[in-house]
Amino acid sequence: MPKTQYVDFKTVKTSVSILQILDHYQLTNTFKRNGDSLTGPCPLHGGQSPTQFRVSLSKNCWNCFSECKHGGNILDFVARKENISIRDAAIRISEWFGLSLEKPGRKVVPNSTEAPEPTEEPMREVNPAPRTAPAEKREPESGVNQPLGFALQHLDPAHPYLVERGLTPETVAEFGLGFCNKGSMTGRVVIPIHNAEGQLVAYAGRWPGTPTGDTSKYRLPPGFKKSLELFNLHRAIKADAGQPLIVVEGFFDAINLWQHGLKRVVALMGSTLSPAQEELIRRHTTTNSAVIVMLDEDAAGQAGRPEIASRLARFCFVRIHSFEQPGRQPDQLSAAEVAQLIP
Ligand SMILES: [Zn+2]
Repeated sequence: MPKTQYVDFKTVKTSVSILQILDHYQLTNTFKRNGDSLTGPCPLHGGQSPTQFRVSLSKNCWNCFSECKHGGNILDFVARKENISIRDAAIRISEWFGLSLEKPGRKVVPNSTEAPEPTEEPMREVNPAPRTAPAEKREPESGVNQPLGFALQHLDPAHPYLVERGLTPETVAEFGLGFCNKGSMTGRVVIPIHNAEGQLVAYAGRWPGTPTGDTSKYRLPPGFKKSLELFNLHRAIKADAGQPLIVVEGFFDAINLWQHGLKRVVALMGSTLSPAQEELIRRHTTTNSAVIVMLDEDAAGQAGRPEIASRLARFCFVRIHSFEQPGRQPDQLSAAEVAQLIP
């Protein structure tokens, strides 16, 4: 196999955690956490039993004890989920997470017709690296999300979904939210996403309500790399720098805190911190800055926050905010509760 057509499976496996993969598929909420493991229904064969599928966070691997009778690493998971080869899974994961696999004499060649079939790794192989390893070994992220050359028009800012979430017309207007009835986001409430410079780079589409069947809660444009952005960063960096920077998971977590007066808030758009997001926070804080990591009080949030906090603690003061009530998340907080968050 020519060296220029090398797909670096090892780099992909050590750069991305199984948690990030589950988060990518918006699956983390279907799992229960118990120490090092997550347990839930199998997302590969579509089972129902809450104990059939198990993930080891430290080993970065998964196992289905039911129909699949199989397990493996992140490449095996994505290959099965997408019904593609291990090689294509590696390429797809690098695209999702913005991994740069190009090294001197080595690069990923997607869609190459000349590339010979890769030697597939044994399906049962698991990555024995400790869970903290992926963060240390991550490759720098490549590429940028190009600014959109357009803005969606005729959005309905008074859609009942936005009212039900308790958002004021001022908040809806500030964030440019609205129900869309044209194009790829038809039937969804759209959320504009900007880069640090305030340029519009994408719209996320939230299904207004509880999605059923194959409908996903959120839709993001193909090619958009959420790992390269922090939602609301361009507003947060204009807010009082004496206030702590609050890091939350979701769009509506950030929007709710913002509405209740905590303007210095950014959302990861997931429960993991990418290297590019870490760099954005580093660039917009000083060694005297305080950062509060406030993830959802669920399996994904509890699993993700210690690593995020330890990485951010290398360059600023970090506090983890946990909620006493299981399942609690920042988008549910009332004005009074938000007022008590920051002394
Ligand atoms: Zn299964």
